[in-house]
Amino acid sequence: MDLVEYRDGVLHCEGVFLLKLAKRVKTPCYVYSASALTQNFQAFDTAMAQVPHLVCFAVKANANLSVLKLLAELGAGADVVSGGELFKALKAGIPASKIIYSGVGKTKEEIAYALKAGILMFNVESEAELHAICSQAKRLKKRAPISFRVNPDVDPQTHPYISTGLKKNKFGLPVEKAMELYEQAALWPEVELKGIDCHIGSQLTSLQPFLDAIDRLLFMLKRLHEKGISLQYVDVGGGLGIRYKDETPPTPQAYGAAICEKLASTGLTVIIEPGRAICGNAGGLLTKVIYVKDTGEKRFYIVDAAMNDLIRPSLYQAYHEIVPVRLPKTKKLVSANVVGPICESGDFLAKDRELPNLKAGDLLLVKSAGAYGFTMSSNYNARPRAAEVLIKDDGFQVVRKRETYSRLIQDERMA
Ligand SMILES: *Cc1c(COP(=O)(O)O)cnc(C)c1O
Repeated sequence: MDLVEYRDGVLHCEGVFLLKLAKRVKTPCYVYSASALTQNFQAFDTAMAQVPHLVCFAVKANANLSVLKLLAELGAGADVVSGGELFKALKAGIPASKIIYSGVGKTKEEIAYALKAGILMFNVESEAELHAICSQAKRLKKRAPISFRVNPDVDPQTHPYISTGLKKNKFGLPVEKAMELYEQAALWPEVELKGIDCHIGSQLTSLQPFLDAIDRLLFMLKRLHEKGISLQYVDVGGGLGIRYKDETPPTPQAYGAAICEKLASTGLTVIIEPGRAICGNAGGLLTKVIYVKDTGEKRFYIVDAAMNDLIRPSLYQAYHEIVPVRLPKTKKLVSANVVGPICESGDFLAKDRELPNLKAGDLLLVKSAGAYGFTMSSNYNARPRAAEVLIKDDGFQVVRKRETYSRLIQDERMA
């Protein structure tokens, strides 16, 4: 399903004309479709139906409370990577018993918070972290549920900034180190060995790296079993890619079927942690042209969204399709850069893009911006962060209001 379609020449999403929405909410603003989020979550849930499973949405992809609440109501768990994400997931109604906590730098305060909340498990990424978790568990007189995050050393063939499962990456434990820690920790009363975990990267467009990683986990599970260590969960992480331009990633159906085929015989509960593939194509960023600037060399569409709103093009040279909200009268296209107002040459949303002849005031939709869009936004250049809107049941609701100037200074003191 495409997020949007033209109706009477105007972009339209689930019964809502984006022109009207933009008039009401102003720009820049993120829009998310409840029905697209629902379909995407259910596609994963259904694809895993043959095995006991839990779909833990990766909160860092989109942490809006309404998005999390919608997913909670569909039965989603959460993969969190900070105390703040744990706080938001719990607030949105995701039960602690469905929350797993990943990340290489959990502080002792965050560990204590998660232990008190009663999360499903920690994905432990280093020996030092294991000790930190043990000492917090002892202090709080609790047993810490843990998995080790293994670094399977497979190349996910994705952008280097979002590949995590190679030996050179900071994530996870090398296989032999993890084996050693399983044997040690099996003897410690303050931890409960629950599972094994990996996450090899993001925006993967083929199944093979996932299958290679799962083979490593299966081999470890076998060796652990021989040592008398049996686990309940196997977590294969997230990372399934989406189509931004012309990628052809596997569908959630194909992905789920391949995972189930590999893991069904273990009898373990399978956890997956999709983020991008649930919310990426369920959202877009609406923006307005402020100025059109022709330098002779180049045409620039200067728009009111910038790298502080959507950093992916600047950070990863990521491609986002950009479409006019109102269909132009002619099919004629011009090559242009779509740039924001920020004082950095790296501030662009698209380069050398074939777009219609636009004028100031025209609206554009930056597509596939539902994941790693708002969550990576900042106040750089003292720009208030954009509004977020959820489109649902033929209507829309502002689910995060646009920041105000007073909010920009609310926590500062003039000393
Ligand atoms: C980022 C992340 C995910 C989600 O990745 P996507 O590519 O958005 O699916 C899942 N698990 C962990 C541990 C992560 O860090």
